[in-house]
Formats: sequence, C-alpha cells, structure tokens
Amino acid sequence: MNRCKKVAAFIVLLMASIICGIGFLNHSKVKNQKKIPIIDLKLLEGKDNIVPLLVLGSGPASLSAALYGSRSGIRTYVLRGNKPGGQLTGTSYIENWPAIKKIRGIEVMNDFEEQVSHFGSIIISDSATSVDLSSWPYRVITEEGHELYALALMVGTGATPRRLNIPGEGDNEYWGKGVTTCAICDAPYHRGDKVVVIGGGDSAMEEALELSPYAKSVHVLVRSNELRASANMIAQVKNCINVTINYNKALAEIKGDGQHVTGVVVVDTVTKEQTEWPDTRGVFLAIGHVPNTYIFKGYLNADKEGYLKVGPGNQMTNWPGVVAAGDVADPDYRQAGVAAGDGIKAGLDLVWWLASLGFNSYVQEKLEPFFFNPHSVQKKKLEEISSMAEYRELIKNASESVIVLDFFTPYCPSCVHMLPIIEWAAAKMHGKIRFCKIDASVSYDLVKKFKVPDVPHMIVIKNGEIVDRLKETMPRAEFYTYLKKFLS
Ligand code: NDP
Repeated sequence: MNRCKKVAAFIVLLMASIICGIGFLNHSKVKNQKKIPIIDLKLLEGKDNIVPLLVLGSGPASLSAALYGSRSGIRTYVLRGNKPGGQLTGTSYIENWPAIKKIRGIEVMNDFEEQVSHFGSIIISDSATSVDLSSWPYRVITEEGHELYALALMVGTGATPRRLNIPGEGDNEYWGKGVTTCAICDAPYHRGDKVVVIGGGDSAMEEALELSPYAKSVHVLVRSNELRASANMIAQVKNCINVTINYNKALAEIKGDGQHVTGVVVVDTVTKEQTEWPDTRGVFLAIGHVPNTYIFKGYLNADKEGYLKVGPGNQMTNWPGVVAAGDVADPDYRQAGVAAGDGIKAGLDLVWWLASLGFNSYVQEKLEPFFFNPHSVQKKKLEEISSMAEYRELIKNASESVIVLDFFTPYCPSCVHMLPIIEWAAAKMHGKIRFCKIDASVSYDLVKKFKVPDVPHMIVIKNGEIVDRLKETMPRAEFYTYLKKFLS
C-alpha cells in the first residue's frame, strides 16, 4: 500500500471507530476512570466556548497528542503556553531525534506546528492560568481571560528549569545579568570570559559545549563526585581544552557590580571550604527541572516532586478524560523522543475515551456553533522590513506616533518566545503603536544604523526619536504596561 492509501485507510478506520464508538475502543484502558455520562447534546448545546480536545502546551508531547487528535477528525485546540515549542526551542542542535542525524530544536518544533496545523489543529498563543475539573466539561481559564470548556484535556505543560536560591541569583539581583539557564542564547556575549556551569547532567554538558567556542574558560561545577550525563556527551566535553570539570563543588553565592556578575563563591561540598572566584562573568544553571503542575493541584495525582502520575499502560491520569505526557509526567526519561511517543499515546487515549462517551462526527457537527472561536484571539501578523529604504518608507507612512522595531534572528529562543507576545500587543495596541520585525541576521544596514549588539533587541521610536531599548523578554502583562508608558 502506498503512503497516501495507508494514511487514508488509517483515517477511515479511526473515523469509523469514533462514529460507531467501537473498534479502537479498549474498555480495559478506561475501566479505572470515574464515569462521565454519555454525551448529552441537550446539556452541551448552548454552552459557549466548547473545545472537544484541548491540549495545554506545545512541546513534542503536546503536539504529538494534537497530531493524533486532529488527524482522527476531532477538533483540537492547542494553547501554546509561555514557551512555544517547549524546551527543545532552548537547545541548540539535537542529535537524538529519531531518524534525523542533526537538526536544530527550533526547526523541529516549527515543522511540528506546521504539521499539526495541516491536520486541522488550532494553535493559540495563550496559556492556561487555572482549571476547574470538578464538573464536566472542564473549565479552563486562560491568561487572556477566555473561559474554555474542554471535553477532553491533554496536559503537556512541561517543566521549568530549577533555580539554586542562593544570594545573588534572584530576579532583582543578577538573574539575566550573567546568570541564566540558556547558553545557546547568551554564549556569544561571553567571548573571552571565564564562566561556570552548574550541574552534572546532559544539560550541563550541552551548556559547556555551547560556551566552549566563545569563553576563555568553562568550569563545570558538579556537587557530587560523579556525572549523570551520557557517555557521548561527556566524551564531547572532554575534547574541549578550555572546559574543566570540577567535582564536589557547588555555588554558594553570586557576586556582581550592580550591573553584571563579576564573581562567584564556590564551596567544596566535602571540606565545606569556600573560595572566591573573582573574575567569573557568567553562571549557567543546568540543575534539572520542576514540573509545571501547580494548576492541577487537588485534582491530578502527582508524586512528591510534582510529576503527574499516569497509567499504568496508558497516559490517563486519575481524572476521566485528562491525560498527561512529556516532562510534566516523566521523572525518568525526559527525552524529546519519549515525550513525542507518550504524546501519541495520550492523543489516542483521548480519541478512544471521547469515542466511549459517544463523541462522533454527528455530535461534533451539532456542537460546532458552540465551539470556541479562535479568531477572537488571533494575533496580528507583524510587518517585516530588512533595509534602510523600507525603514524610511515605514517612518514616512506610519500614522502612529510610536514605532517598535523588533530585531530578532530565527534561531534565538528568546526571540521566538517573545514573538507571540509582540503579536498580541500589536493586535491590542493597533492604531496606537506600530510594530515591525527586523531579521538581524540579514538586515546589516539596519543593525548598523541602530547599533544592535545582540538579540532580542527592541527599539522604541517616538516622534522619530529613539526613546528606549529593551533587551530582555517579558511576560504579556508586563510588556503591555511597559508599552503603555510611551503613549502618554
Ligand atoms: P539531570 O537531572 O539529569 O541532572 C541534573 C544535575 O544537576 C545533576 O548533576 C544534579 O546533581 C545537579 N543538581 C541538581 N540540583 C542541584 C543543586 N541544587 N546544586 C548543584 N547541582 C544540582 O538534569 P538534566 O537537565 O541535565 O537532564 C534532564 C534529562 O534530559 C535527562 O534525562 C537528560 O539525559 C536529558 N537531556 C538530554 C540531552 C541530550 O540528549 N542531548 C540534553 C539535555 C538533557 P546530582 O547528580 O548530585 O543530583
């Protein structure tokens, strides 16, 4: 059978199973779930913002679930969350994505979004801020204030990098001023510097490899006397002459001059002796992650670290019609490939579960008028310029008094994460502030004219004059408040 025929056969089989409520449905997989009544159209019709299958997150697990949901004909919505594409967009190259020798994490996730959109998933740049699972359909409130009613829910909210909680690391101290978790973002700013990487896992090795071509010296501090990283990663690090692995060493304090990190205090974990390393300019944390599960507290069972419990044998949580996959539910493997595989299982678990409730194409058609309308939250596509001539044209024609130039590069994770927020602001402040993207990797004359040293870098222009430069990323609400001050 050729590929097209196979895909068509698969879709027909899945649709048949959904329409008949049989076929793929395996009752043993859902037998431990609390009962939800068979779908009653009278109960659902008239309810606004229904979402048949809602995916929270946009990493490999989430998009795999969305792929299987939408490909089986179920209207699937993806709330991308605050880090579109998840952790893979913060890594450099991936060498262990099955069947691909080497590829950038950002490329994988861009292709992935394109693929799930192609099958009909609706991708929305918004995040879930709270859930109410006490009644069904499940109520999900988003950062933009939307109230969605999900018939089935996939939790792929991932995990957030762990912090050390030591003096000097705080958000109002040196976080973002030399302390970070993203070498791929910041390595180029550490040319000739001495930097430290904290951790002994694969992430720490990856950070060291990313920093090695730029920094004068990279010191990896490992709190125990052994590495957790894989042999392949350790071998690559050992090939870098400017990287030193320091065992039984941890960080006690980060010091700075008010503007930037200037030194660290290192503690020997065996002797407890503390030593100051005064000339250190960068601190890269790679000490694992904390699962993003707090909004499900009280509903979904989790282990003591907060990882959601699923299965056995499937991705179902303890709550009916709620599945989880990826780093949020995987304390052991935490690999993108595993997340994608578990995401497929999660997607199929929901397809089968919805079928068991009698959700079929007839029901979907009847409920269609009550589905959430994503157009109400679509972002404004940003215009883009790449030359001085286009810039002059923009200034000449802009009716707005404030213009924001967003310098980015396609492989800068912070730029990618900030883009949906800028698009959202562009829609919200339409007519008041004009936003324009500039790809710094190709727009040499604009980079030179505006003296842009690195990305992300936003320039605020008011009445033709540069009034501010913004180098860090911000959450949506903070960005909105920041922009509003230029309108007064
Ligand atoms: P890991 O949990 O594997 O490693 C965390 C490291 O940080 C450990 O060395 C741990 O030390 C150390 N650590 C934890 N807390 C502290 C602390 N407070 N102070 C100092 N050190 C601390 O996390 P990773 O993010 O490295 O990896 C997570 C998963 O992702 C793994 O499965 C890994 O294989 C995978 N991964 C794969 C990559 C690839 O294949 N290219 C790249 C990156 C990650 P201790 O051992 O003492 O607990």
